[in-house]
Order: sequence, then C-alpha cells, then structure tokens
Amino acid sequence: MGDRQLETLTFHNTYARLPEAFYAKLNPTPFSSSPYLVSFNAAAADLIDLDLREAERPEFTALFGGSMLTPAMEPLAMLYSGHQFGVYVPQLGDGRAILLGEATNARGERWDLHLKGAGMTPFSRDGDGRAVLRSTIREYLCSEAMHALGIPTTRALSIIGSDEKVYREQVESGAMLLRMAPSHVRFGTFEIFYYRRQHEHLRVLADYVIDHHYPHLREAPDKYAALFAQVVERTARLIARWQAVGWAHGVMNTDNMSILGLTLDYGPFGFMDDYDAGFICNHSDHNGRYAFNQQPFIGLWNLSCLAQALLPLAEKDALKEGLDGYMPLFEREYRSLMRAKLGLADARDQDEELIRDFLGLLQGSHADYTIVWRELGGFLSGRGMVNDRLREHFLNRERFDAWAVQYAERLRAERSRDDDRQQAMNRVNPKYVLRNYLVQAAIEKAQQKDFAEIDRLLALLQRPYTDQPGMEGYAAPPPNWGKHLSVSCSS
Ligand code: AMP
Ligand code: MG
Repeated sequence: MGDRQLETLTFHNTYARLPEAFYAKLNPTPFSSSPYLVSFNAAAADLIDLDLREAERPEFTALFGGSMLTPAMEPLAMLYSGHQFGVYVPQLGDGRAILLGEATNARGERWDLHLKGAGMTPFSRDGDGRAVLRSTIREYLCSEAMHALGIPTTRALSIIGSDEKVYREQVESGAMLLRMAPSHVRFGTFEIFYYRRQHEHLRVLADYVIDHHYPHLREAPDKYAALFAQVVERTARLIARWQAVGWAHGVMNTDNMSILGLTLDYGPFGFMDDYDAGFICNHSDHNGRYAFNQQPFIGLWNLSCLAQALLPLAEKDALKEGLDGYMPLFEREYRSLMRAKLGLADARDQDEELIRDFLGLLQGSHADYTIVWRELGGFLSGRGMVNDRLREHFLNRERFDAWAVQYAERLRAERSRDDDRQQAMNRVNPKYVLRNYLVQAAIEKAQQKDFAEIDRLLALLQRPYTDQPGMEGYAAPPPNWGKHLSVSCSS
C-alpha cells in the first residue's frame, strides 16, 4: 500500500513541456452542485502510491471532482483529430476531459491523471463538457474488468458524482471519472499534425512517444517505421484479446485508438451474451461498421490511417511492410488465445477448424459465449464419455456430438488430462464478465444514490477467473429485460 497523501503526489508533466500547439491549458470547471464520492478503486490508487485512506478526505472529492488542484498539476486539454466512422474530422481534442498532470510513482512510472467530464474546453464543439453518471460507471467498471482479464486498457481511480443536471436523451446527473494511463496519445494525435501539414510537430510528437514509451527505439535506424511496426503489433494483440473474450468496442474511430495499444474510450461497448459474430454493440452504428466480426479489419483500417499520417517521417515501403504484418500477427495471436481457451497445449493444423466449428455451433444455438467456454473446461475426453450438461447448450445436438468426437480425439492426441486442463482453462475462460444487464442494475441503483452495487461489481470483476461463493447469480445469462439493452453513443 502506498503512503502518499494527495498533497505529496509527485508530478512530472512531460506533455505540458511540448509545444503549445499540442494542447490548451485550462482548469476543470467545478460542478454547480456539491460533489460526492461515488466509488474509489484501491488497485488504481496503488499505481501512484496513494494512501488508500486519502479517498475518505474531502480533498479527494474536491481534487477528482474538479474543484481543487495541487500546485504540481498543470491541467490541459489535448489536441487531436481523427476518422470518425470512416470520415476525417479535422479537429476533435479533449472536449470534456482534462489531463491534470502526470503522477510519478516510486518505480519511476508516470501515470496520466485524466479527468473525464471536467467541463468545457476549447475543443468541446457543441458538447457541454460533461459526462453522465451512467457512462462513468460503465467506463470505470469495464476498464478495471478488462485489466483483470489481462487486456491492455486505461485504468480508473474514482467516480465523483454531483446533482448537476446534464441533458442527454433525458435529464441525467453529471459525474467525473479519473482515468489513468501511461499516455493518452491517440492515432488522431498524429493525424491532426499530418493533415495540418505541421510536419515539425509531427516529428516532435513521434520523438516524444518514442522517448517516453518506446525508449528502445531511440537509436533504431528507421525509428519512425519501427515505432509504427510496434503499434501494429500492440494493436493486433489488443484486438485479438477483445475477440477471444467476446468484447466489442462500439466506436473504433482513430481518435479512440491508443498509440500504446490500450483499450481507450469506453462509450458504447459490450461483452456478448449470446454468441453472434455480427454483434453490434453501438445502437447508433446503423451500418455495422464496428460489428464484432469487423473489428479486426477496422484495426487494420485505422492503422492505415496512422501509416498515412507518418508518411512525412518514414519511407512508404517501410510503413507498408509494417501494415502487412498486421493480419498475420492478429491471426497468430487470436489462434493462440483460442487454443488456450480450448485447453490445447500444442499447436496443430486442424485447430483452426476446431475453433471455427465450435464458434459455428455457438452461433447456431445462440449459446452464451462466456458460460459455454467456462463449462467446456469440464469436458470429459475419455472414449465414449458423454458431456450431457454441455450438450444442452446446443440446438443441433448431432453437430455438437460430431464436434465433441473431434475435440476428444484431439485432446487424447496430446495426452491432455481432464483435471489439469480444466484448471488451465479456468485461468483463461472467465466466469464473470461485465454483462450489460449487470452494469445496468448498478447504474439504476446509483441513480438512486445507492453505490454499493458498483463496489460489489468492481470487487467481483477484479477476480474474473475465480469461482466466488455466493456470486453465482452474477455469472448467469441475462434475464429477459436485460437481453437487448440498447447502448447509444450518448454519454
Ligand atoms: P467520443 O466519441 O466519446 O470518443 O468523443 C468524440 C469527441 O467528442 C471527442 O473530441 C470528445 O471530447 C467529444 N465529446 C464527446 N462528448 C462530449 C461532451 N459532452 N462535451 C464536449 N465534448 C464531447
Ligand atoms: Mg474519444
């Protein structure tokens, strides 16, 4: 546990040292109505050595509710642009988030303290600069759930609520989320300087990212192409992980793509309940641009936007080579994750078919993605064994039987032992994920000022692979009301 107080947090504000064109310096706008603590995440506090008891102080609520600063903070809104749904938007930027500063810990790491919902900035366009309680709860819980699943992501320290009214499709209350990441630089941060033909800024940005986040590339011969290749690799791995766990980002615009390969900007997103390869989690995504099965290709498309933006710094052929690496990297990573989900220790040619057929079975039966994978851990591989409980998830039982024969043979071929395999599978097939209906229930309670469910879900999802007694209900498929909750862009 850390021992730092809010006043003794140390900062090393590297982004604020970049040219002024990179940001706008300004302070958060306090809520018009007094702020209160909604939830606090000890795991994130640890990252900056913050003493956990600090959350009980009114200064904590003031600081992360936008009404107080420490002298070492240098708040600013970052500038960026990006491709939204395929269309270039020349200027976006932090319209409602403010980077308070970069906190350093005893290990010498820097963490951006990014306050979302902190009020208007010069980049707010038509927005009000606020975030609603509903969306901060979604981001807070999901980012921590993703982290516990081993998926690179921004983190979340706290939610501070208020009774300030915020107008979306209906009147809601405003809240601020304190988000943390080693950097919030996006693909779109590069794009803006490219499209504005500010190539010197582009170079400064690339050097900054290399210096602070890819320091092993400082002396690389073709360092900007090498940087790109690393971003390609991280993005491929990231999206493979989303796919394996059955999660989709609802707004994969290039302004929401992290240069560090983190899951960034949780607006509409979703873990699938019933498996559906064409799953669209964003109600406003009418054409399914960001459908689940499109996400790997969108990753490539977004990377090609980044490559374009890097053209003034690197040879076209080198960038193209980096881009060409994406699909093979993605496929290799995805296959290896899916093999682990199947409990396979070796890699064999037939595995691809085994994976594809299993997904086909899930799709045909609208089977629950998380539950079936978890139950597959209990598969009995002995000759002539029946797997009745598992079988019941499938509508086409004969097809399942045929698949089970193949799977059992494959397992026997590598001398897999049922009990060992189950243990290994339970470490990769989560029991608990942030289903939409679970977060919806927590939101509805929070809107009545009961925040206990948020903390309960946070604790649960921080151990997604562990059976937690008394929490069985949280692993259940959605009740009827929670099956097709629509999640829009409004947040
Ligand atoms: P998002 O879709 O949340 O990633 O946001 C896209 C852009 O819209 C970013 O520049 C955001 O800062 C901005 N934005 C979203 N909501 C608001 C808001 N309520 N007020 C100001 N800017 C916003
Ligand atoms: Mg965004």
